[in-house]
Amino acid sequence: LFVVFEGGEGAGKSTQLTVLAERLRGQGRDVVVTREPGATAVGERIRSLLLGAPGSDVPSPRAEALLYAADRAHHVATVVRPALVQGAVVISDRYVDSSLAYQGAGRTLPVDEVSWLSSWATGGLKPDLVVLLDVDPRTGLSRVAARAEAADHVEAESVAFHERVRYAFLDLAAADPKRYLVLDASRPVEEIAEQVARRVEEMLGA
Ligand code: C5P
Repeated sequence: LFVVFEGGEGAGKSTQLTVLAERLRGQGRDVVVTREPGATAVGERIRSLLLGAPGSDVPSPRAEALLYAADRAHHVATVVRPALVQGAVVISDRYVDSSLAYQGAGRTLPVDEVSWLSSWATGGLKPDLVVLLDVDPRTGLSRVAARAEAADHVEAESVAFHERVRYAFLDLAAADPKRYLVLDASRPVEEIAEQVARRVEEMLGA
């Protein structure tokens, strides 16, 4: 089973992902937790090109899209597919939808082209479930302001950018409702965790 968490900045993806992984491991399941960008050694180097660059040296939008796609291609080939073949539950912090939302809607690259690039990179691998933690960018941004890593990168973008990202995620969910669980990220952590667990356990036939 391939589960992806998506959402804007400060939506609480990593908290929820950790809670879900612990719960499933407690049930004796084999769980692989991973993320984009940067889950592999190659990916870490790509991540630093994307998020560690000083202001004067940020990749152009198309270069950015290609770097995310390169990270994803390597991630799918070396982490996600092998784990799925082994029968693990793979839980990823971000996947294709982040590119459609950030590089497509956010940077205003043609979304169908970004989508094509992602399918090429992944060989068409789709998640079984996308948990979208929906958050108002103003709330989310104030949550991440305190966090050092990627904070500069995040703050470099306008609220309008983050709003385009938010609505792109919501549109993707609306277009394929069976594959998505959309949750209000402002709800208490335990409440969100319970809804996620219920859905995943249902899918696992637990
Ligand atoms: O999920 P995480 O906070 O680690 O993501 C780091 C940053 O990478 C986010 O701030 C997001 O703005 C950016 N990102 C992006 N395009 C993607 C994935 C992440 O711009 N496809």
